[in-house]
Amino acid sequence: MKTSIITGGSRGIGFGIASKLADEGWNVVINGMRPEEGVSEALETLRSKGVQAAYAQGDVGSHEGRSHILEVARNFAGEAIQLLVNNAGITSPGRLDLLEATEENFDLIMATNLKGAFFLSQAIANDMVKAKEADDSFKGCIVNITSISSTIVSTNRADYCIAKAGLSMMNKLFASRLGEYDIPVYEVCPGIIKSDMTSSVIEKYDKLIAEGLCVTKRWGYPEDVGKAVASLARGDFSYSTGQVIMVDGAMTMPRL
Ligand code: NAP
Repeated sequence: MKTSIITGGSRGIGFGIASKLADEGWNVVINGMRPEEGVSEALETLRSKGVQAAYAQGDVGSHEGRSHILEVARNFAGEAIQLLVNNAGITSPGRLDLLEATEENFDLIMATNLKGAFFLSQAIANDMVKAKEADDSFKGCIVNITSISSTIVSTNRADYCIAKAGLSMMNKLFASRLGEYDIPVYEVCPGIIKSDMTSSVIEKYDKLIAEGLCVTKRWGYPEDVGKAVASLARGDFSYSTGQVIMVDGAMTMPRL
């Protein structure tokens, strides 16, 4: 059985991804900030699917947090991890206007939504390269969860938009660098997904969706993103490294 690590996999989109991967027989290491007692239900649900599941508590934005996450995941897998999903992320605190945005929020968002993914990818990519050099049949894969905010402007979430745009470029960089080892790297770009992150803007998006914001007239759900990641992990898009998979109900498709 292969092992995956999903940052921020304890709830929301990350848990949707972990669930779909577990359905397909992946062992899963989920990560989050909460103590392990807070995620026991999530772990039980994953284990009930017949796979092994572990929790790696830690802040992806801090060096110590990432070291701990890597230690737990490497010990759990006992070999190189085959799949890293960089999903952990937070929205812009207070959703402040661009002209009022703070340096503190900027640093927090960049660390959580971009720096964490970059250095976790670097560490796991080095493990994958070593495994591939030792055994050519090794199959690794990295998936980055960005957002439509990587291309769509929200002036009350500048830090978030910039971090997601950076993550999108990071996706291309790793795809390019890992190509020679046949390790694909993909960007999955969700639109408006029902989760704790969007719980404060439900009425706003209910109205916009009813008015035709997306071609597919509904909210996206964590399992929509999970299904996309599972198909990438399965190897269904093995000649498409570096590409962006939109999971946005065609919200970003230009229309007249
Ligand atoms: P969510 O429901 O708020 O869940 C966030 C997850 O990330 C939780 O598991 C949380 O752990 C974890 N997390 C937060 N900060 C962390 C940190 N510093 N270190 C490690 N884990 C951390 O959010 P979501 O809606 O599922 O979003 C997941 C990803 O999708 C994010 O990258 C987000 O930007 C992206 N996205 C979301 C939407 C949307 O509409 N919801 C749209 C596009 C993209 P705890 O449970 O321990 O707090």
